[in-house]
Amino acid sequence: MVAPGPGSDTKPGQLFVVATPIGNLQDITERARRVLCEVALVAAEDTRHSRKLLQHVGSQSRCVSLHQHNEERRIEQIVATLQGGDNVALVSDAGTPLISDPGYLLVCAVQRAGIAVVPVPGPSAVTAALSVATLPTDRFCFEGFLPARDKARRERLRELLHEQRTMVFFEAPHRILATLQSLCDEFGGERPVTLARELTKQFETVLHGDLQVTLACLQEQPDNQRGEFVIVVGGAPRAPQTRYDSQNVLETLLEELPPAKAARVAARLTGEPRKALYALAMQLNAGKSSA
Ligand code: SAM
Repeated sequence: MVAPGPGSDTKPGQLFVVATPIGNLQDITERARRVLCEVALVAAEDTRHSRKLLQHVGSQSRCVSLHQHNEERRIEQIVATLQGGDNVALVSDAGTPLISDPGYLLVCAVQRAGIAVVPVPGPSAVTAALSVATLPTDRFCFEGFLPARDKARRERLRELLHEQRTMVFFEAPHRILATLQSLCDEFGGERPVTLARELTKQFETVLHGDLQVTLACLQEQPDNQRGEFVIVVGGAPRAPQTRYDSQNVLETLLEELPPAKAARVAARLTGEPRKALYALAMQLNAGKSSA
């Protein structure tokens, strides 16, 4: 079913998906402020957190929680509120709801019920970081949080090794060093990166460099390991540096050499990171012995 178009903000029974500041409260938009004041109900990821924002904008709207553990249960209540003709706003703790935040199930259910879902755009750490990263923004991909476990994280990064678009990752302070180390090992230390830390807040820091230098910089400065991070990584070079297909090269070398040596020679020939080639060599060898 096609949901009715967004129409005016004052039409009854609409769900507004409202972006909120990622640190600096002055980044709230005028429209977000008005919508948060006018709706009957605000569905918030953390009600205690969002009440402070509601107070700041002068909203007295009722606030209920909607987070990853109760989203399915809450949907029925919110859809009923909308069907009763009341407007509802969805907010997350910071930035744009649904971007690594709850709301996807609700938005789908509301749309399925034939009710208008209206975006109220505003801040997001993704676009804020990209806007100052000085890396190509004509094409980019958002990868959210990488897996927490080292092995899974490296596997994901290997899948992205040849991604040519600028890549955007979120990261938490307790994993920033491990993630930068994995990026360095899998993509090679020369890959350009921008680390956007604590955007719009007191200790906002934007570091530009390559992966190796940025990792070393953070290792030396524990203060820069604190806070929230967006990691923006340059894509793989467009004109392939490789003169040969890395898998073909490895397969040929593995006929004569052990995996470590084959990976070293393949790295020189193709310009790709030795560690990634070694992992591929081990995979190819394992495939050969199980065939
Ligand atoms: N929906 C949010 C948005 O649109 O920005 C993102 C929510 S996600 C749960 C939280 C992650 O976003 C953080 O771990 C961090 O990677 C990033 N982030 C949020 N605020 C940030 C800020 N002020 N500076 C840098 N990164 C931030």
